[in-house]
Amino acid sequence: MRLTFRTKLLASHVALVLAVVLIVILELNRSLGADLARQLDQRLEQQAQGAAQWVGEGRRHPERLAGRLAQVVNADVTIFARDGNVLGDSAHGYATTEPPAASSAPTPSGSPTPTPTTVSVEVEVEVAAAQHGAIGHATRTTPGTRDEIHYVAVPAADGIVVRLSAPLSDINATLSAMRSRLLFASAVAIAAAIALGFLASRIASRPLRDMTASATRIAKGDYDIAVSSTSPDEFGVLAEALSSLAAQLKARIGDLTAERDRLSAILAGMVEGVLVHDADGRVVVANPAAAEIVGGAAPLVGKRLEEAVTRADLRAFVEGAAKSAEVREAELEADGRSIALYVRPLAASAGGAVTVLRDMTAMRKLMTMRRDFVANVSHELRTPVAAIQGYAETLLGGAADDATRKEFMEIIFRQAQRIGALVEDLLRLSELEARAPEQAVRESVDVGAIAGHVVQTVRARAAKRGAVLALDVPDGVVVAGDPAGIEQVLLNLVDNAVKYGKDAGRVTVEARRAAGRIVLTIADDGPGIDARHLPRLFERFYRVDDGRARERGGTGLGLAIVKHIVESMGGTVHVESEVGKGTRFVVELPGH
Ligand code: ADP
Repeated sequence: MRLTFRTKLLASHVALVLAVVLIVILELNRSLGADLARQLDQRLEQQAQGAAQWVGEGRRHPERLAGRLAQVVNADVTIFARDGNVLGDSAHGYATTEPPAASSAPTPSGSPTPTPTTVSVEVEVEVAAAQHGAIGHATRTTPGTRDEIHYVAVPAADGIVVRLSAPLSDINATLSAMRSRLLFASAVAIAAAIALGFLASRIASRPLRDMTASATRIAKGDYDIAVSSTSPDEFGVLAEALSSLAAQLKARIGDLTAERDRLSAILAGMVEGVLVHDADGRVVVANPAAAEIVGGAAPLVGKRLEEAVTRADLRAFVEGAAKSAEVREAELEADGRSIALYVRPLAASAGGAVTVLRDMTAMRKLMTMRRDFVANVSHELRTPVAAIQGYAETLLGGAADDATRKEFMEIIFRQAQRIGALVEDLLRLSELEARAPEQAVRESVDVGAIAGHVVQTVRARAAKRGAVLALDVPDGVVVAGDPAGIEQVLLNLVDNAVKYGKDAGRVTVEARRAAGRIVLTIADDGPGIDARHLPRLFERFYRVDDGRARERGGTGLGLAIVKHIVESMGGTVHVESEVGKGTRFVVELPGH
C-alpha cells in the first residue's frame, strides 16, 4: 500500500500524541501507586508507633486493646508477644499464651495471618524485623483471596510487637479510577490529535499538492507555471525553485527546438541526401533527399537499413563502409541512375555511419550530352572543312581549267555556307541556353504578319521545287512572346516542310486560337517520317536520313532550336507524321 504524505503526517502526529499519552499514563500510574503506598505505609507506621506506646504503657487485655486500637486507627491491629504468639488481633479478637512452636526464622513473604483455630508458629518478616528493634514492612496477598495487604510492625516494650495492616484495595480502587479517567482523557486527546492532525496535514500538504500538479505539468511539457506558494517556508523556496526550473527548462527546450528546427531546415533544403544509422542498423537521421535517392518509403527514421535502403548495392556499400570504420566514397550505377556516396563511420557508435548521397544521374547525362555535342559538332565540321581543304589544295596546285576551277570554287562556297549555317545555329542555341527565363521577351506578336514574312522568305526556295505555300492565319491571332523567336520557329518549320516535302508539294501554315492558346500548324504532304524516329526528332543533330538532310543543307539543329524557343515561351511542340502522307508540326503558345 502506498502511503500518502498526508497519511504519514497524520500517522506521525497521532503516534506522537499516543506516545506522550502512554508515557503520561504509565508514569502517573507508577508514581501515583507508589505515592499512595508510601502514604499508607507512613500512616500505618505513625499509628503503629502510637499504638506501641499504648501497649507499652501496660495496658491489659491486649486482645481487647487490639480491637479498640483498630477502631481508632482504621486498620487491623495485631499484637505479638515476645515469642511471636499473637496476643491480640482486631480481626479475630482472641489471645493465647501458648508459645510459638519452633522456627523463629522469618519467612520472606506470603505467610498467612494466623487463623482463630491455629496458632501461628512462624514469624512474618515484618514481625521478625520489629522483634529485632526495627520497623518491619511487608505487602502480601492473602491466600485464597486476591486481596493485597500492607503490614507495618513496630516494637513496643517487653518485646511486644504491634502490627498494623490495611488492604491495598483502596489504593487500587483509586488507581483504577484514575486510570479510567486518564484513559478517557487520552481518548479525547487522541481524537483531538486526529482532528488537528487531519487539519494540519491538509494545510501542510496543500503546497505539496500544488507543486505536484506543477511538476506533472512540467513533465507533460507545459512550462508556463506560476509560483503557487508565496510562503517564506521550505515549501515556498521549493515552489520558487520549481518555477525557476520550469522557466530554465522552457528556455533550454526553446533553444534546443530552434536548433533542431534550424538543422531540420538545413537538412530538408539540401540537395544531397543525408542518412545516419546507428550501431543497430537503424536510421536515426534522414532528410527528404535521402529518402528520394535510396528509394525507401518516407519517413526513414526508425526503420532498419534493409527497409530504408531498397537498392541492394547502395546498402551493401554503406554497411561495408560502416563496418570498416574508414571513410569511403564511390559512385554506383544501377537502373539508369548514378548515385555518389560518401560514408563516414560514426566514432561514437561502432557500426553506425553518416552517409551523404548525391544523385549524379542528371549531371552524368549532361556531361554525356556535352561530350556527344562536341563530338557531333566536330563531326559536322570535319566534312566541309575537309572538302574545302581538298578543293582549295587542288586549286592552289593550279592544274585545273576555268570550268573546273569555277566548279571547285562553288563547292568551296557551299561548304563554307554549310559551316556558316552550322556556326549560326550553334550560336543561336548557345544564346538561347544562356538566356535566363526572366529575360524572356513577352510581347504581343501578330502571328499573321510574321507568318506572312516567313512565307515570303521561303517562297523562292519553294518555287525552285515547285512547291506551293498556303497561309491561313485569321486576323487577331496574337501570341504573348518574342517576335524574333516566333519568326525563327516558323522559319525552321516551314523551311523543313519545303526541304523534306515532295517536289511540287503543298505546305500549309495555319494559326488558330483555342481556349486562350494559339495553335500553329505547319503541314506538308511529303514522304512523312517513320514512327520510330519521332521521339528523337527534336534532339540535336538527329537526322532521319543523314545524307539527304546534309545534301539539303540541314545542320540537324533546326528542330532543337524550335523546341528550345517554344518552351522558353511557355509553349509546347509536337510532331505527327504518317509515311507517304505527310508531316504536321503543331506548336502551342500562350495567347495574348
Ligand atoms: P536539319 O537542319 O537537318 O533539317 P532539323 O532539326 O530541322 O535538322 O530536322 C531534323 C530531321 O527531321 C531532318 O533531318 C529530317 O530528316 C526530319 N524532318 C524535319 N522536318 C521534316 C518534315 N517536314 N518532313 C520530313 N522529315 C522532316
